[in-house]
Amino acid sequence: MHQDIEKVLIDEEVIKKRLDVLAEKVMADFEGESMVVVALLKGAVLFMADLLRRVPLSMEIECLNVASYHGGTESSGVVSFLDHTLPDVAGRHVLILDDILDTGRTLDAVMEKLKQQGAAEVKTCVLLAKDIPREEVMAADYTGFVIGDEFVVGYGLDYRGRYRNLPYVGILKQSVIG
Ligand code: 5GP
Ligand code: MG
Repeated sequence: MHQDIEKVLIDEEVIKKRLDVLAEKVMADFEGESMVVVALLKGAVLFMADLLRRVPLSMEIECLNVASYHGGTESSGVVSFLDHTLPDVAGRHVLILDDILDTGRTLDAVMEKLKQQGAAEVKTCVLLAKDIPREEVMAADYTGFVIGDEFVVGYGLDYRGRYRNLPYVGILKQSVIG
């Protein structure tokens, strides 16, 4: 697996140190609230496990299966909710976790949906955000790292279903993508 990686962008130690900082911010904001974490499958799974172990607050953890359809390099903006039921978030303070914010449409759609379900507050947290100058892009409340406009894998992020279990975030060799 490692031999398919051109470059390690963010190594494991750097990720872990950043998670300590994010966890403290989340702690400060959610302490004393009725907290529900909603992690988006499957990309946020590693991030969720490592971040939430650092947040010693009473919370419920839910996962949501969403699919965002991308036609070519541009997101179509269509976000589908694949679960039969949504987590019960009425009156709760929700923290949505996702792997990466690209166009922001996925997070935006999930946020709206959970607000419709009566959440008292919805905040968003992403491991990565792409630094793309697009006016309409929302910002997450908590961002681990801002990266350039390049396709990354690892630490939850996949290419055709693989590489999620890499302990770092990296860029694939062109020969693998080609
Ligand atoms: P958005 O709705 O913000 O455009 O899409 C976010 C989703 O697109 C992420 O949850 C992720 O599944 C996918 N995505 C966006 N950029 C990348 C990337 O660089 N690498 C991988 N593996 N997935 C990405
Ligand atoms: Mg995703």
